[in-house]
Amino acid sequence: MRNMPAVLVVEDESAIAELIAVNLRHNGFRPTWAMDSVSAQLEIDAALPDLILLDWMLPGESGLVLAKRWRDNPRTKEIPIIMLTARGDESDRVAGLDAGADDYIAKPFSTKELLARVRAVLRRRVPEQAGESITIGTLVLDPSTHRVSFDAKPLKLGPTEFKLLHYLMGHAERVHSRSQLLDKVWGDHVYIEERTVDVHVKRLREALDAAGTMVETVRGAGYRLTAKPIVPVADKAHA
Ligand code: CA
Repeated sequence: MRNMPAVLVVEDESAIAELIAVNLRHNGFRPTWAMDSVSAQLEIDAALPDLILLDWMLPGESGLVLAKRWRDNPRTKEIPIIMLTARGDESDRVAGLDAGADDYIAKPFSTKELLARVRAVLRRRVPEQAGESITIGTLVLDPSTHRVSFDAKPLKLGPTEFKLLHYLMGHAERVHSRSQLLDKVWGDHVYIEERTVDVHVKRLREALDAAGTMVETVRGAGYRLTAKPIVPVADKAHA
């Protein structure tokens, strides 16, 4: 379902992972579990989560190494990371935050605190889930009033196009595959064909008018919203 943020839980202790997953599920999140760095990377390669809960002490590569790698990779660098660890002293906390973690929770933690921190980090990092207006160039989308404007000129969008634009603007410059968009914008996409996405992207571009070129097709990969409107070839020829 839409509005159920996907949370990847990277934790080798199954009892803790289970406890976290149950609590996330009961509170409107979609948890997946990876027990080491290798399976965590496989999960990330398959689909980007909205947030990662990352244990520091893992068999093989540590959570710290993983956090650094994900921060250095353009595909994963924007995913919020909360580090989990039994190590609670200040130098460890600083090392975790230096590695790119957004927050830090020392074990043992209360599930209430964990959920509060997950929500807080999501609000900070994913504005599209917090109802704040998003501005990219002169394109502005305001979820609270459901208004979109470009160069201060209001635009009319259908509800699906609005949701699609909201998601793309909340994750600008990233390439989203059709199946990722179905998952994030349409929710349960089992019965929807991927070409539905193409239909709505086409409508979105038409509705965006001059800003339509901000929605780029990335061949073989999907779609991306980019900050710079591209000058159409025809305009260049006249320039
Ligand atoms: Ca551990």
